Amino acid sequence: MKLRVLIGCSLVVLGGAAPGHAEVTVIRAGHLIDTEAARVLAGQSILVRDGLIEAVAATLAVPAGARVVDLSDYWVLPGLIDAHTHLTIDSHNQDPLAELQHTAAERALGALPNARAVLLAGFTTVRDLGSYRALVDVALRDAINRGDVVGPRMFVAGAYITITGGAGAITGFAPDVTLPWDLRYGNANSPEEVRERVRALAGQRVDVIKMLATGAVLTHNSNPSGREATPQELGAGVDEARNFGLRVAVHAHGAEGIKAAIRAGAASIEHGTLMDDEGRMLMKQHGTYLVPTLEVRECVGANYAPEFVAKAEQIMSAQLANFRKAVNAAVKIGFGTDIGVCPFGHNAREFSLMVANGMTPMQAIQSATVVDAELLGMADRLGSITRGKLADLIAVHADPLADVRVLADVRFVMKQGAIYKQD
Ligand SMILES: [Zn+2]
Repeated sequence: MKLRVLIGCSLVVLGGAAPGHAEVTVIRAGHLIDTEAARVLAGQSILVRDGLIEAVAATLAVPAGARVVDLSDYWVLPGLIDAHTHLTIDSHNQDPLAELQHTAAERALGALPNARAVLLAGFTTVRDLGSYRALVDVALRDAINRGDVVGPRMFVAGAYITITGGAGAITGFAPDVTLPWDLRYGNANSPEEVRERVRALAGQRVDVIKMLATGAVLTHNSNPSGREATPQELGAGVDEARNFGLRVAVHAHGAEGIKAAIRAGAASIEHGTLMDDEGRMLMKQHGTYLVPTLEVRECVGANYAPEFVAKAEQIMSAQLANFRKAVNAAVKIGFGTDIGVCPFGHNAREFSLMVANGMTPMQAIQSATVVDAELLGMADRLGSITRGKLADLIAVHADPLADVRVLADVRFVMKQGAIYKQD
């Protein structure tokens, strides 16, 4: 069954083949970016069957009944991955206190345009790192997977595991106010409580655990440079998550929190703003990924509380210099935007900042494809246009290796064989 919907000027085709009838597409790619070998191949054809890439070759016979998509004037890339999003955030009011004015249902329905904007911007997969109203992200992921909602494939955290009053908590209200369960679902104040929260989240089928090792910019009365979760709590979280086959992403701005998270076995350091030399060395030793979220700096402005703007100015002056040091030290760098702080769909702005601060365009594209696929534990399914992987493909009208800004203007989006956007 097929459902055709017009979104803006883009034709969106949802749904796959009728039962028992394979859906086959052949894509003629003028230029194909091989993210594994870091090269560009000219004049390739991609055979997609039932959502999987079946073959990639210069010459390829078109099977009878196949749909042919002519992208011979385009550069074709694997679907992009954003390893740090917040699709359930209210992009018009990111003050955590605003959560008290909205129900979980409002957050869920409010996330629908966010999810669609991110997919149509070429991001076919996201790792969504925290919903204030717990488990709204799980519901959104499942609705997208069912085909009820247009959006990227989501890997979700379910809630923030945070100290009470910490970076992932709702703060700034009087102490006699009792929060509803889903605004304190991830609160944990000892190693045992962290284990208990990880177990609860795993039981709710999350894909990743999100912990907070330092304060945050966008949380009231929270100091980004200061430590929050203790080394023991971080270690308990990583250990317990491992029991459930889950990896832990750790929010950390301050140098001490960063190092505690790396030593605890975090899969990735989110932001890593004030990372020092020892931190970079530990990242390399442990194989930890840095997800830098550089574009946030351009969006914390007039519409934010003065406290947030002041903190952003304080710590972000060091951010780009430390990012450049991480690039030079060959730390593994994933692509993540913290989107929701900046407008949904503007995810590709991150590429320009990465390239302006030391990465080559190919390295930046690799971070959003093969590197993020590894970070997600999905290297066998995502990140490159390779036989056997999911058919997540995008196209742009000019060479992104000559100018990465072109990635902000994605003209074609296919997720798992279904086309969501086409010129
Ligand atoms: Zn975030």
